[in-house]
Parts: sequence; C-alpha cells; structure tokens
Amino acid sequence: MARYTGPNCKLCRREGMKLFLKGERCYLDKCSFDRRSYAPGMHGQNMRRKPSEYALQLREKQKTKRMYGVLENQFRIYYKRAARRKGVTGELLLQMLECRLDNIVFRLGFAPSRKTARQLVRHRHVSVNGKTVDIPSFQVSQGDLVQIREKSRQLPLIHDALKRVGDGRQSNWLEIDKVNLSGTLVEYPKREEIPTPVEEQLIVELYSK
Ligand code: SF4
Repeated sequence: MARYTGPNCKLCRREGMKLFLKGERCYLDKCSFDRRSYAPGMHGQNMRRKPSEYALQLREKQKTKRMYGVLENQFRIYYKRAARRKGVTGELLLQMLECRLDNIVFRLGFAPSRKTARQLVRHRHVSVNGKTVDIPSFQVSQGDLVQIREKSRQLPLIHDALKRVGDGRQSNWLEIDKVNLSGTLVEYPKREEIPTPVEEQLIVELYSK
C-alpha cells in the first residue's frame, strides 16, 4: 500500500494553503506555512504568473489528493467510480474520500491528523462492526460501527486527540460515542456537510478532458 513519505509541510506551501497534515503542530507557531507561505524551491518566491485554467484544475486535484493522503492511481480510481454512479460526480468523489476508514477515524476525533488515523488503522487498533480492519482505504458503509479495539482504548494518543478536538470536528453524519470510543456512519455526507475547502468541479473538468 503505497503512500507519500516526503515532507508534509512542503505540500502545504506548494498548494498555497494549510492542509493540516501534521495534527497539533499545524495550530502552533511552528507551522512552516505560517512562516514561509510561498512555494518551495528556488523560484518559489517569484511565482506570480496568472495560473492557466489547466493549472487551476491540476492544483485542485493535487490539493484534494494530498489532504486525504491518496496517491494518483488510487485517486483516479475514486474518480472513475464516482463518474459511473448516478449523481453529482464531484460530490460523490468527496463522499467516497470521506468514507475511507482512516478519514472516519480522523473525523471522529480519535487521531489528530489523517496520517495518524491511517497509522492507527494499519496497526490494527480499529474495528468495523466488531471485526479488525487494517486497510486505511476501507470504505465505511451507512450504519457501520467504527470502534477503537478494546486492547487499544488506553492509548494516550487517542485520548489526547479527543481532548484537543473537543466538539469542533464533529459531523452530523457521524454519531460519536466518546465513552466507548466508537462512531456510526449515520448517513452518507452531503456536500455541504463536508468541510473540505476544494472546488471539486475543477477536478471533474480535469479528468473529463
Ligand atoms: Fe501544513 Fe503547517 Fe501542518 Fe506543516 S504544520 S502540515 S505547513 S499546516
């Protein structure tokens, strides 16, 4: 299962916005983007050209991929699946990304970032409907119960993450049980319930060329 292993902060600087890839650090003064909010590389500070339509579409796709920690091939597969289904392709694409198990663990507040949520899943700390699932891309379905496994409930990382997020990251489409460290996907999220700041239509335009 391939994943990006390079420096995360560079990705934020490349996209020109904070992607919140590092959990708590993203909210502190240590955030690289707050200190150097220009693109990385030798010419990063001189990139002032007006972006072309293609560049805008590409950046939107890259930004989305990076936020969810998905690589190109897998992202393209998500797009193809979304395009085959009935409905608004961009919204369906985001819905599928939101229903990845690592993202659900993050949205439930059990991890400070999607990257840590992914690790929790890979290290077998998470179960779905009572069965251990160690695949971060696992698609959670409506009604599924996502839970931190009994043996992992004392992990300080999880409790710290829960304390920090408070109620701020909670979503209407997820029902959270903080006592049992579990959550249920009550219904698939609608676009307005997905707080990802991307223009998904641009991604659809890019891939439909
Ligand atoms: Fe991005 Fe700042 Fe977090 Fe680094 S610390 S990943 S630059 S938001």
